Amino acid sequence: MYDNQSRVAPASIRAARWRCAVGAGLALLGSMVAVAAPLDDFTVSEVAPGNWVHVGSLDERTVDNLGDQANIGFIVGERCVAVVDPGGSLLVGQALRAAIRRVTDRPVCYVIYTHLHPDHLFGAAAFQPDGATFVGHEKLPRALAVRGASYVNSLKRDLGAAAAGSELVVPTQLVRGELRLDLGGRTLLLKAWPVAHTDDDLTVLDESTGTLWLGDLLFCEHTPVLDGSIRGFLKVMDQLAALPAGQFVPGHGRTGLRWPEALNPQRSYLQMIARDVRAAIRNNQTIEQAVESVGQSARNDWTNFDRFHGRNVTTAYAELEWSDDE
Ligand SMILES: [Zn+2]
Repeated sequence: MYDNQSRVAPASIRAARWRCAVGAGLALLGSMVAVAAPLDDFTVSEVAPGNWVHVGSLDERTVDNLGDQANIGFIVGERCVAVVDPGGSLLVGQALRAAIRRVTDRPVCYVIYTHLHPDHLFGAAAFQPDGATFVGHEKLPRALAVRGASYVNSLKRDLGAAAAGSELVVPTQLVRGELRLDLGGRTLLLKAWPVAHTDDDLTVLDESTGTLWLGDLLFCEHTPVLDGSIRGFLKVMDQLAALPAGQFVPGHGRTGLRWPEALNPQRSYLQMIARDVRAAIRNNQTIEQAVESVGQSARNDWTNFDRFHGRNVTTAYAELEWSDDE
C-alpha cells in the first residue's frame, strides 16, 4: 500500500513563476520549484534572495497532507544550507530535502527548530544523512523529553504507516539569548525568546536580506495557538515589532500586510482573550463559562477556530487566575 521508495524518488520537476496575490508576508521574489514526490504539490518559493519557503496546509493532519501543515524552508549560503523547521513527518522532510537539491548542491549544515510542536519537527530524520547540526532553544530538549512520546503516538494515530521513520531528533546546539550561524557569505541571527507561544520559541533573521523567520510567534489565517504564556506572548510581540524585518515568514498561513503591521491581527486576538478572561475571572465565571463566552466574535476571522480557541481561553484563564500583574 505504501511504497516509500517510489514516493521518495525524484520525479519530474517543474519550475514556474508564481505571482503572489497575498502580499508582503510571503511575497515571492523569483522562481518556484515544485517537487512531484513524495507530496505531489510540495512547492518552495524564493521570498528573498536565498530564502526559500514552503507554505503548509491549514487543514488538520491527515494521511492526505502527511503532516504538511507548517511553513518551513531553507536558507542558502555560499558554503552550506540551513533548514528552518524540517516539517511534520519524515515524508515532508524528504520532500523539503528534494526541493533543496533542485535549488543547490551545497550541503545542509544546520537544521534549525523554531519550537517543539510536531508539525514543525517530525521531518528531522530526513537530514541526518547530511550530518547536519540540529539547533534549538536551550529549553527544547527538556520540552521534547516531556512531550515526545505523546507526539509520536499521535503521529502514528493520524498517519498510520506513513508515520514510519518520523523521529524527534533532539538538538545538540542550543541557543541561549542569541547565536550567529555562518553559512558562508550569509549570517543568521538566532534569538531564543522568553515564554510566549511555547517556552522554547526561536526566531531566525537572515541578516543579509532582513528576512525574519518567526515560527509560531506569528500566525496568519490560522487561529493563533497559546501553549506558553499570554502575557509573555504579548510582550514578545512588542519586541518582535521592533525588529528590522523586510520579508518575514509566519509559522502558518499568509498575509497581505507588511511588517510590523502583520502582527496586528494576532495581537488584537490575544489582547481580546486577555481582557475578556480577566473580566470573566473578576466576575467569578468558571473556566467553562469563560470558554463559552470569551472571544466568540473572532470566530470568522480565523481558520481552525473551534479546534484551538477554547484551548487558548483555558490556557489564558489558568495563567491569569493565579498570576497577573495587571
Ligand atoms: Zn506551534
